[in-house]
Amino acid sequence: MESTLPLVECFHSIQGEGAHTGRSAFFIRLGSCKVGCNWCDTKESWNANNHPQITINKLCKATINAWTNGAAFLVITGGEPLHHNLSPLCDAIRDQARLTGSPPIAIHVETSGVDAISGDPNWITLSPKRHAPPKIQLLAACHELKVVIHDPEDLLFAEAMAKAAIREKNSPLLFLQPGWGSSQGHNLALEHVKANSQWRLSMQTHKWLAIL
Ligand code: SF4
Repeated sequence: MESTLPLVECFHSIQGEGAHTGRSAFFIRLGSCKVGCNWCDTKESWNANNHPQITINKLCKATINAWTNGAAFLVITGGEPLHHNLSPLCDAIRDQARLTGSPPIAIHVETSGVDAISGDPNWITLSPKRHAPPKIQLLAACHELKVVIHDPEDLLFAEAMAKAAIREKNSPLLFLQPGWGSSQGHNLALEHVKANSQWRLSMQTHKWLAIL
């Protein structure tokens, strides 16, 4: 059992991407990612050893504090958060919420899907990567599928992932998200969404607003 986790940062902000865009959220960004996307915007998170080990108790208290200050949900992100077993953290947060009499805290996880699910999240954002396809379990369980678009191959991959989710009898919300700074990605995602009603556009609104 992991009683500490490597913490890159935690902060209370708004969710900038996907289905919950614009909502108050508390973020826990964990260190460690072996997926290695060359366009990754959180490369500093890859090496867990560069980040302090924080007790689950402290992470739990920070979450409850944000919860009492208006956060609508917790987002556990990374790095790749599911490189860790999230059950001890999620169990502790839910237990603590029960003890303090606060309403249940919704826990969201943002993942590339290369590891098994842990922590029984209430919402799973699957952002699969072409060079490291996700586990079937994640395609079957995700609530939103968000594919980053840089080039035409990414669109083909997005469609293949959507079909694979449907094969698993899942019907997640479908998002195309232009790669940050990629004008080709912007145009491709926009045109594909215009031409295919099942897809929605996800913009990284926190980056446009220049906030965390
Ligand atoms: S999976 Fe996410 S954190 Fe890991 S390299 Fe890719 S974009 Fe970065």
